Amino acid sequence: MLTRRLIESARYKEFKLDVERNRLSHAYLIIGDDTQVRATYKNLLAMTILCRANVCFNCPTCEKIIAHAHSDVKFFNDDGDMKVKDAETLIEDAYIRGLEGETKIYFVDNFDKFTRQEVPNKLLKIFEEPPEGVVIFLFATSENGVLTTIKSRAKKMLLPSFTTEEIKEYLIDIGTPEDQAEIASVLSGGRIDRGSKFAENEEYVVQYEKCFEVLTSVKKSSDIASVLNNKIFSREQISVTLEFFEIILRDVMCHVSKAKVPTMTLNKDYDIGRIAEGFTAGGVAMALIAVTDARRKLNVNVNPLSVAERMMFDILEAKYKWQ
Ligand SMILES: [Zn+2]
Repeated sequence: MLTRRLIESARYKEFKLDVERNRLSHAYLIIGDDTQVRATYKNLLAMTILCRANVCFNCPTCEKIIAHAHSDVKFFNDDGDMKVKDAETLIEDAYIRGLEGETKIYFVDNFDKFTRQEVPNKLLKIFEEPPEGVVIFLFATSENGVLTTIKSRAKKMLLPSFTTEEIKEYLIDIGTPEDQAEIASVLSGGRIDRGSKFAENEEYVVQYEKCFEVLTSVKKSSDIASVLNNKIFSREQISVTLEFFEIILRDVMCHVSKAKVPTMTLNKDYDIGRIAEGFTAGGVAMALIAVTDARRKLNVNVNPLSVAERMMFDILEAKYKWQ
């Protein structure tokens, strides 16, 4: 299902043109952090190059690729722990002619996160003297950690990404109940791997609704004490609560500043409007800082309850001070 969606994406179509025009680059650097999309995309890229029936999913080639059993398609560094020995194996293998097809394909994941720094240097040879009939796909979350000499020899592309609405549709397609899919997609931040993780647990639905309740109900400082014992501020839940708060407050910001951008929450216009009452744009910006500050304190192990208390006071203060 995810593959079908990837096939429709503009970023994939851009790559497919290279194949159709016989202009495959020796190396591609694909930027994007979604681990689930990366895994599925690798199979799709390999099928696009090797399947003779336009990515049919059914021929022996496609079946072998999907099962990671194709002798000309190899995967490296999925865990970021690639060894020098693995790099040597890759290089040796790349200079031998392919067995099953004309093109040999190598995927090196986490190219910006090697535990062994000598590995990318070791691989450099293959980019400087690219063997015939070999395509190497490098995956990285950002270009920053990639050696400049390699960057300049690889064609850069972006990993396909999705809107909140598209992720919701995808989660419903794979059988997630609609309300759960909606919340998971909101929390996904545009990432299928995150969306899938949140879709597994129906408790997020309850937690999400409670976040709205708390933000609409606290109007003065004496209201704060009564919400602090809410489960959303417990040790187990508070970090996801902060993510929800941030998402909600960003939409409040769009509401207050009348920005015409797609909201991150779905079908919550009424609640967002209620939370926005009394807020100026400057006030919401301060409230967002209060959430960031809360996250920082949690990371250094400040007690969740005092983090929550401080944050709720700061949010209220942001509302009234910035009029
Ligand atoms: Zn096929």
